[in-house]
Amino acid sequence: MTGLLSSKIQFSPFSPVVCEKMADNKLYEILGVTRNASDSEIKRSYHKLAKEFHPDKNPAAGDKFKEISYAYEVLSDPKKRQTYDKYGLKGLQEGGQGAGFRPDDFFGHIFGDIFGRQMGGGSGGRRRAVGEDTIHPLKVSLEDMYMGKTAKLQLSKNVICAACKGIGGKPGAVVSCKDCHGQGMKVSYQQVGPNMTQQFQTLCPTCQGLGETINDKDKCPKCKGKKVTNEIKILEVHVEKGMREHQKIFFRGEGDQQPDTQPGDVIIVLQQKQHEVFQRTGDDLLMKHEITLTEALCGFEFVVKHLDSRDLLIRHNPGEVIKPGDLKGIQGEGMPTYKNPFEKGNLYIKFDVVFPENNFASEEQMKQIESILPPRPAFVMPTGEDVEEVNLMEYTASERGQGREEAYASDDDEHMHAGPGVQCAHQ
Ligand SMILES: [Zn+2]
Ligand SMILES: [Zn+2]
Repeated sequence: MTGLLSSKIQFSPFSPVVCEKMADNKLYEILGVTRNASDSEIKRSYHKLAKEFHPDKNPAAGDKFKEISYAYEVLSDPKKRQTYDKYGLKGLQEGGQGAGFRPDDFFGHIFGDIFGRQMGGGSGGRRRAVGEDTIHPLKVSLEDMYMGKTAKLQLSKNVICAACKGIGGKPGAVVSCKDCHGQGMKVSYQQVGPNMTQQFQTLCPTCQGLGETINDKDKCPKCKGKKVTNEIKILEVHVEKGMREHQKIFFRGEGDQQPDTQPGDVIIVLQQKQHEVFQRTGDDLLMKHEITLTEALCGFEFVVKHLDSRDLLIRHNPGEVIKPGDLKGIQGEGMPTYKNPFEKGNLYIKFDVVFPENNFASEEQMKQIESILPPRPAFVMPTGEDVEEVNLMEYTASERGQGREEAYASDDDEHMHAGPGVQCAHQ
């Protein structure tokens, strides 16, 4: 039994080659350059990619950005590049790099399978693969982002089975997969050029890539050989004042547990619920408010219920005319700034003016209104035969659209329709 177990840790006859071939060009490929690229080529390519995949611009590409940064870190350093060229990623990992320099932190996702198995190898190896991060959206109200809030989030996560301590069965029940020699992968090579071999990998069908098998009768009754069990965990998420939509809150190492794997993070991504009154732009708030024509001309007062339940009384003097679409601001009544909540953005109010309905006043009253309002612009009546008086009629946007479409759809351009159903006179 022990012999079989240890064979899982040892490299199979060709696996060191696999490892080197595998790592060989990866960092160059990440930066999209060839092995003989010059320092300046590497730098140029890095700058281009780093811009493209920067998390600020491309939040979904966080891992990609880490890869790019790591590849550049190695290839821009002549010593590290030499080590990498000679020994591959493995050389960098074992090359006596300073504390905290951990390529497998970056490459957990790509190489986790290979390095986790071949180098960490399930028996307390120095390096451990990094598990996947768990991403959870959390819907929060704008009020919560204004006031701050602690939300409790219930998560189900995999933890190492307590009954078998993550072994999956009785001690010795786990045996290395005979089909893939514990690799989990089957590897084949193809010569693609002089001194160049391309490597193909497929998941071992016998062990589904696990590299090991357990007889049914030996499986741990609690986890049924899965090594992990599901558990409910409550996370307290502190939504801080001024946090924004899509902001991430990290819980380091709270991701799913797996044997021989450093658990990934739980990442909470805030999603702001739409607010009935306020829209947010950065730290500013925007709201719309309708006033009547009377208010627009003669002043008004109204109350805005703020996100912390304060009533803001807004008063506008008579005679300070508000036009439709006017934007006014109130300083310091926007959102608190993240990490500096006493500093606040502004509140902007966009006004819409509602005009009175038809015939809202008598002829006599109209004259009165006209006597108060600024005078009409001067009008000169044109003379001659070419003057024709026409009628203004109600015209909705959809009718206008149809009329145009019909006109353009007409196969004879000279006979354009004047409007829906109206033909030109000379047709
Ligand atoms: Zn178990
Ligand atoms: Zn297998």
